[in-house]
Amino acid sequence: MLIVQKYGGSSVANAERVFNVARRILKAKEEGNDLVVVLSAQGKTTDGLIAKAKEINPKASRREMDMLLVTGEQQSVALMAMAINALGGRAISLNGVQVGIETTNNYSNARIRKIQTERIENELERGNVVLVTGFQGVNTLGDMTTLGRGGSDTSAVALAAALNADVCEIYTDVDGVYTADPRVVKDAQKLDEISYDEMLELASLGAKVLHCRSVEVAKKYNVKLSVLSSMTDAEGTQVKEECKMERMLISGVAADKNVSRISIIGVKDEPGKAFEVFALMAKEKVSVDIILQSTGRDGRQDISFTIGKDDLDIALKALEDSKERLTAEAIQHDDNVAKLSIVGAGMASNPGVAAMFFEAMYDAGVNIQMISTSEIKITVLISEEDIDTAMIAVHDKFKNVSVNMRKN
Ligand code: ADP
Ligand code: ASP
Ligand code: MG
Repeated sequence: MLIVQKYGGSSVANAERVFNVARRILKAKEEGNDLVVVLSAQGKTTDGLIAKAKEINPKASRREMDMLLVTGEQQSVALMAMAINALGGRAISLNGVQVGIETTNNYSNARIRKIQTERIENELERGNVVLVTGFQGVNTLGDMTTLGRGGSDTSAVALAAALNADVCEIYTDVDGVYTADPRVVKDAQKLDEISYDEMLELASLGAKVLHCRSVEVAKKYNVKLSVLSSMTDAEGTQVKEECKMERMLISGVAADKNVSRISIIGVKDEPGKAFEVFALMAKEKVSVDIILQSTGRDGRQDISFTIGKDDLDIALKALEDSKERLTAEAIQHDDNVAKLSIVGAGMASNPGVAAMFFEAMYDAGVNIQMISTSEIKITVLISEEDIDTAMIAVHDKFKNVSVNMRKN
């Protein structure tokens, strides 16, 4: 079998853990498999590099940030190759340029366009374990790019697709995908399996156990994907097209703190105002999430929406510059907010779900600022300090419902 494995930052955080992973890799190799292994930067290395850059220049260009950040993953693969060699195995480390992981040009948030497989295949042929840097690639200018925070998962899944691997195993510091972040909700339950669509929603709504793009790529190329622990041998979670538990009510609760809210107050209630606001955001490449427009009163209305925290400054500047044209009385913002979402394919056909969700919030004394729904999710915007309480309360409300449904 050809296996692509990925180990996250905490799984390779220090020498002991590097050797732990090296032994796991060698075990899989000794069982007769070909191994391509993607690694993240050790521990909090990426955060550390970002902090270093901020000390020197808080407005550093994205290109130079990428030049800096790619070094974290390079350290990991080189050290892992050394560990495997020290244990008597054969391994070679390669970075994104050496492999030929071709990406779009946009620094810090590039997308993989194509992966050259020749070098990897040659190294496998020679009997090497091939260690590949996660989170990075090379653009058409020949510059190194990164794929966005958490992007090593996407490197692994894309490699599995390009190499036509039999499986892609994501090893992390929890032993699978849970019904909520197990670090916040102590009685969260591990899911044996979850559909690509539900995982995609959970990941995009903040469950950082998998990078959102990695699930998209897995779905598109039908990659056999599992999430497992690098510390135990527990069975993990399979992410796949169809799940046998069709009647599962909710598959999980997710929280996202990377949110801020903008409200444009007292805009003239006439056609074209929403268009003007969101055309401005599009021009600044700011992605907008939940949108709420109030009904008009005295010929005026309010438009509120959420964006990522990093985009707040850019968005506010663009809006302030156009305040008069927008006929806005005031532009307010709040970055002390977070999103809480429930996800489940069974939701659309079960009418009481939204009421249960809101009841849980009421019981916990948490105020809801905005609501957004789709066929398989409900999201609320709340104050950031309420997020853990709210997550525990909502999970508690649904935990027995989902268990009972699943047993049927
Ligand atoms: P890695 O460094 O291995 O990529 P991450 O920190 O990116 O690991 O992702 C793993 C973390 O995701 C876990 O430690 C956990 O706190 C968090 N997490 C959030 N939601 C979930 C969930 N539904 N199931 C499992 N883990 C989750
Ligand atoms: N090292 C990168 C990060 O911390 C990529 C990853 O871990 O997936 O975001
Ligand atoms: Mg991660």
